[in-house]
Amino acid sequence: MSDSTRIWSPISYDRDGKQVDCLRLPISTDTSAYGWIAIPAICLKNGDGPTAVLIAGTHGDEYEGQIALMRIARKLKPADLRGRIIILPSLNFPAVQAGRRVSPVDEGNLNRHYPGRAHGTATEMIAHYVTEVLLPMADLVVDLHAGGRSLDYIPCALIRPGKTAQHHEKLVDLLRVFGAPIGYLTNGSGGGGNTTLPAAAERTGAPVLTAELGGGATLNPSGLQLAEQGVLRLLKHIGVLPRYDVTEPGPVRLMESSTTDLLVYAGTDGLFEPLARLGEEVSEGQLAGLIHSIDRPHNDPEQVHFGRAGLIASKRFPTLVKRGDCLFELMQDIASSQTRG
Ligand code: ZN
Repeated sequence: MSDSTRIWSPISYDRDGKQVDCLRLPISTDTSAYGWIAIPAICLKNGDGPTAVLIAGTHGDEYEGQIALMRIARKLKPADLRGRIIILPSLNFPAVQAGRRVSPVDEGNLNRHYPGRAHGTATEMIAHYVTEVLLPMADLVVDLHAGGRSLDYIPCALIRPGKTAQHHEKLVDLLRVFGAPIGYLTNGSGGGGNTTLPAAAERTGAPVLTAELGGGATLNPSGLQLAEQGVLRLLKHIGVLPRYDVTEPGPVRLMESSTTDLLVYAGTDGLFEPLARLGEEVSEGQLAGLIHSIDRPHNDPEQVHFGRAGLIASKRFPTLVKRGDCLFELMQDIASSQTRG
């Protein structure tokens, strides 16, 4: 049995109606010995039914999901529901407030601290609250992301492969209902591995759909539209918005990105000149870009090549790079009969 959370809230998840308040994350600093940080939360409930947990602001510099969830929270009424929707538009609130990927309180990256710790740092306490309080209630979790300051993404949605064929088909259905042009499978090998929200949810069995909706620490209007419409479609799909009018999803291309050789990294420091575009289909060995040395400007730039063929799903935003920075991420098509990993 794990320790119980130190985060508390005036919101009661068992109460019918619409509650707009916050989660209270304890802090103790020079200027606030017994204080708390307010993490905005909205709970809508109407009788018995499925529970959806909607999250944005896991990373503070990713905006489409934050605004989409604000819009959804403003317009939904308890009478629209059968069941419960819990909305957290800015889950790592200190990071959101600072416009940063990580929290200025503890430099914590929320999607690298799951399953979290009850008595850990601020960011670990948030991860633990999600793992221990929210995931056990959830019939669906949606976690909305984008590339943040350092990456640009084509709008896409992702799942981890399901444990059984039946579980896997349910997850692929979520990709089709959300309706991002690209839906992909990943085991987190290029990113957070087993420290992410979807990895924590795998242990409780809650289905999770993650979306990457844009990047560059700005707002992609089509990513925002997709986030809002896609989430409403998912809520209808699981039965929590039974009579709500939603738009039809577009076709979804099923892809995967599960091995590190689909990522392209900088081998040296310098100024990165990309020679391929987001969304472009590239071939194995194709020149991906050049890295110009800032301290040896007369030297030939270092060439960077794609190690595999694929579609460019994300691309680095800043030009200044250090050895080890991710420059591109590729995805590859999968046949629908082979979607289980
Ligand atoms: Zn993110």
